[in-house]
Order: sequence, then structure tokens, then C-alpha cells
Amino acid sequence: MRRLIEHLEVAFTVNAQDLILRDASVVLEDDRIADIGEAADMARRHEGAKFDDVIDGRMKAICPGFVDSHVHLSETLSRAVFPDNVNTRAWVFHWAKPFYAHITPEDEYWGALLGMTEMLRGGTTCFLDMGSQFDPGIVVRAMEKAGIRGITGRHAADNPPAELPPGWTEDMVHHHFFPNADAALKELEACVRKYNGALDGRARCWVNIEGKEPCTLELHVGARALAERLGVGCTYHLATSIEEAKVCEGKYGMWPVTRIDRANGLGDNLVIAHCAAVQDDEVALLAKRGVKVAFCPCSSFKLGKGATAIGKYPEMVAAGVPVGLGTDGVAAAGNMNLMRQMLLVAGMFKDARMKPDIFVARQALRAATIEGAKALLWDDEIGSLEPGKKADFILFDLDHVEWTPFYDPLQALVFSASSASVAETWVNGEPCYRGGKVLGVDEQQVRQKSRELAAAAVQRAGLNQEGVPTSTTLYDSGN
Ligand SMILES: [Zn+2]
Repeated sequence: MRRLIEHLEVAFTVNAQDLILRDASVVLEDDRIADIGEAADMARRHEGAKFDDVIDGRMKAICPGFVDSHVHLSETLSRAVFPDNVNTRAWVFHWAKPFYAHITPEDEYWGALLGMTEMLRGGTTCFLDMGSQFDPGIVVRAMEKAGIRGITGRHAADNPPAELPPGWTEDMVHHHFFPNADAALKELEACVRKYNGALDGRARCWVNIEGKEPCTLELHVGARALAERLGVGCTYHLATSIEEAKVCEGKYGMWPVTRIDRANGLGDNLVIAHCAAVQDDEVALLAKRGVKVAFCPCSSFKLGKGATAIGKYPEMVAAGVPVGLGTDGVAAAGNMNLMRQMLLVAGMFKDARMKPDIFVARQALRAATIEGAKALLWDDEIGSLEPGKKADFILFDLDHVEWTPFYDPLQALVFSASSASVAETWVNGEPCYRGGKVLGVDEQQVRQKSRELAAAAVQRAGLNQEGVPTSTTLYDSGN
């Protein structure tokens, strides 16, 4: 199938020069971009060529699909359930974990599908999902329907707290924790072998673990080493809050990133989610070891992780660390919208440091696209609009109030536009969202089913009752 999209008003290529074309055309050959350039040049280069489909790009802008570099698809049914006034550790241990422990494979499937519809509506074409509580195949089945690209895994942990906290049961512990690092790694390896490269390569499977206190040092180090042996990536949460860093310092005399490095655990196939609590020498360490970072602005805002108070994301970018943007999912952030993350990151550091020239719109767009693709070890195929890359892109409707006028299209995209002006989202050379509908999915059925399943899961987890703790001492001592 050869397609031509001609006379696009704007093309954000996000290539190495951040080139923005005016009056551009794009040639698609099956699932790939065959050529892109100014319409007049393209007409000369492709004179006499036959196309199966010619799409009018006037009053449209094309942009690479957004890459969500950290998301939990298995928690999509927990939207607007946990309180918004607790810190990260209490939120994880007393709210998120009980919820996770009480969801079923059916909940995960419908939640993942719901999340993917939200992503496609907002222009997200690829994600790095922390993975299933049961089997990554659940997420892969949802991807097959939605048409989206992504990486998933089997979310693993191996270090239960010394004592059962309020609200936890023995069943929860058994559901959530593997007996030891070896058992976890064995299962994770089997998942990678089974699912990596599924859906003709549109789905990948990594060695993903929860990270921080619920995982032993052995599992952190072993997961990345296993991933390297299998030729895939590894991701986990680390240095997510100042509380975690202080507990780590109290127990081991060093901050989390340093602790992993001392055990030879850092490497260029590792994506650290959040990475908010780091010191200057740790930024240098991340750059030296080739580690990638998934920064989740909305999650930091909602949970008070301190991105602007203690975060060193502009320093990471300056040091050459690929920093992608993640949503963290609907429980942590409230939404799966990359455009919101892009808007926040394009302003939060300017404001906090009263410096309007750091993390500008150009860098925010890179973080939402190509830098996220680098984090996912997939930048050879996605993240920018260049010949040979996969045809994963967004078409924005410029005849929309958000884009009127668009003298500087980059500012219009980052500061003015929202998903309201996303007209189409394409993955692998095919439209997945068009005409106000996610194709291939009965969205109303997904929402109806999700509401029913979510209400039952909240009840099973006891999160609708009084007395769920809002502070924690779990993991403050011991290993
Ligand atoms: Zn997360």
C-alpha cells in the first residue's frame, strides 16, 4: 500500500535538527515512512508515481506519535479512587498494592483496553507498560484490538514487608511477591521468550520489576543483567521520592541510584521511572552508564514527588541522559495524556527556577517523542518522522480554535493544543483513531464494562472503607 499525504501545513519531524517543515508531503509505503519533505520537492521526486490513497493535508499538522515511557495499564480501573493528599510511599503500600492484589485478569484486560483508547485519543502511539500481575499476554491481546505499539512485561517483586500492614492479607503477599529473586527472574525470562516480538513486532516484552523497597538488591541487579542477556530492556521505579532516598540512606548509607551502581546494576538497557531524588554525582553516573529516565510530571504533581523542588531533569538532559515522559497511569497521574505531560514539562522548570530558557517547548516535544523512543530502545524505528521509520504519527486539525493562529507552530503545539485537536492517530501505517472513534474497539462497551469491574475491584480491595492508612512506616527498617 502506497499512500501520499500532501500539502500538510506543518510537519514536526523531530529529527536531529528539530526541523519543522511548512507545506510538506509524506509518502507512506505499507507500515513505513518512505519519504518526507517540502511539497514542491516531493512532487518532483515522486513525479509519475502511483498511489493507492492520496490524503489532503491542508489545514493539518503531522507530528510523530507520542511515546509514554512509563505507564501501568493494569491500574486503569483505579482512576479517581486513591486520595490525593498522601505521599508516594503510603499511596503505594496502602492503596495501590491492595488494589493490585484484588484485580483479576479480566479487570486487567478491560483496564488495558480502556487505557489504550485514552492513549490513542491523545496521540500516544507507543508505551512502556510496567506489566501484568498475571501474564503479559493480557496486555498483548488488548494491543491486538487497539492497534497500538508497546512494551509490556510481568510486573514482579520479591521482598514483602516484615510484618503484614493493615489491610494486607497473606493472599495478597502471595499474589504480589515471588518467593525470591531467582523464581521471579525465571518467570520473567519465560514471559520475554513467549511475548517479545508478538503482533509482528508491534509488541515487545521486557524484564520489568517494581523496584525500590519491594524488590531485593539481587532482583534489581539480576533483572537488568537478564534483560541484557535476552537482548531486551529492563525498567523499574527508583529514587521516586525524598522519603525513599532518606530511608535508603538510613539503611545503607547511600542514595538509591548509588546503591544500585555499587552493585554493578546500572546499564544502557535500564529505564528508571521517576528518578526524582538524585544527587549531582548521580546525574553524572546515569549519563556515564547510559541509563534512561522516564519522568512523569502529572504523577509528581499529584503525589508531591518534588520534581521542581529536588528534581534534576534539566541537568540530566544537559548531561546527555535520554529523559522521556511518562504518565504513570490514571491512579498516580489521573490521566494517560502525553500532551498534558508535555505542557507541564515545558513550564515547570522555567517557573520553579525563574529561568525561561530551560526545558523549552522544543525540548518538551523531544521528551514526548524521540527521547522517549530512545528510552524504549526503539529510536531506530519510532520517535521522529524520517524515511525508513515506522509510520506512527498524529494529524492535528489546524482549523481549530487551539491552533488559531499558528504563527509559531511549536508553541501552538506545546502551549495551546490539547487532544481536542487530535484528528487522527496512526500506528504502523494504519489509522487507529479517526473521525472521533478508536477503530477496532467498541469504546462504549469498554467504558461500560470498565465502570462495572472497577466498582467491584474497589469493594474487594476494601478501599471504599474508612481507616485505610494515609502514612506509613512500612520498610523503614530491616531489609
Ligand atoms: Zn509507576
